[in-house]
Amino acid sequence: MKSLADLPNEYHCHRNFYRSIWGEISCYRCGFKDIKFRKNYEYCPHCKKKMSVKSETIFKGSNLSYRKIYMLIWAWQNKFGIGEISKMIELSYPTIERWFRRFRASLERSKTVLEDIVEIDGSFFGRLKYGSQKLVAGAINPGSKQIVLEMVGARDSEAVEDFVNTYIKRGSLIRTDGLASYNTVSLYGYDHERCDHDRYIFGPTNHIENLWSVIKRALRHIYRDLTFKLSDLNLILREWENRYNNPEIFYTVDNYLKFRACSKLVK
Ligand SMILES: [Zn+2]
Repeated sequence: MKSLADLPNEYHCHRNFYRSIWGEISCYRCGFKDIKFRKNYEYCPHCKKKMSVKSETIFKGSNLSYRKIYMLIWAWQNKFGIGEISKMIELSYPTIERWFRRFRASLERSKTVLEDIVEIDGSFFGRLKYGSQKLVAGAINPGSKQIVLEMVGARDSEAVEDFVNTYIKRGSLIRTDGLASYNTVSLYGYDHERCDHDRYIFGPTNHIENLWSVIKRALRHIYRDLTFKLSDLNLILREWENRYNNPEIFYTVDNYLKFRACSKLVK
């Protein structure tokens, strides 16, 4: 689906949804192929039983049409602004925010451990104006583009040590800026290359700095003026880890449904 113009009608969205969740269009009880799609359920003429594929997913209990579900997931995957989506789908801003929260919560926390060459850096998220900013530690392998993002309390040596020991394999080459907190990294069994911004134009931390700007630009667009709640930041970071580490989840709506829509992680 390249744009919303390619979005199938309600009947076909329902069928696609069913196929993504159950793997094929047949009764999950008896295997009968010619099941019927009704507005809020499916019906197997062979078992003579109703089913509800929605109730197997994070959309359980929701009265969103299948078409709106497709639009919503697609817009989320493609980083549309909540304001734009609100006009497109006729849902309220808080409702869309709530769905975004569920989509993100259904994603798994990435268990990635980075190796070889890894750039690390810290960056503040949120608005200084409201006196509430959170520090995020980030790491990226510039070759594989695998990343780790985590909220941290401070940018001291102890926080750096925890982060590095948890997410980066010993023996890797760690690239950082000149901050003193990184001085001890070489003591834990890593090679360390630091960037001296006075001497380099293209520093060794280019990729992680670029990652910050990509994420922040997207957030400014999605939440006009960065009005997202800082309590959402953890889930937002989880989303971005998945965007890099499991990009196939974001390729198509069916992929998202297949991989994560049945996640039991979502409350
Ligand atoms: Zn059946």
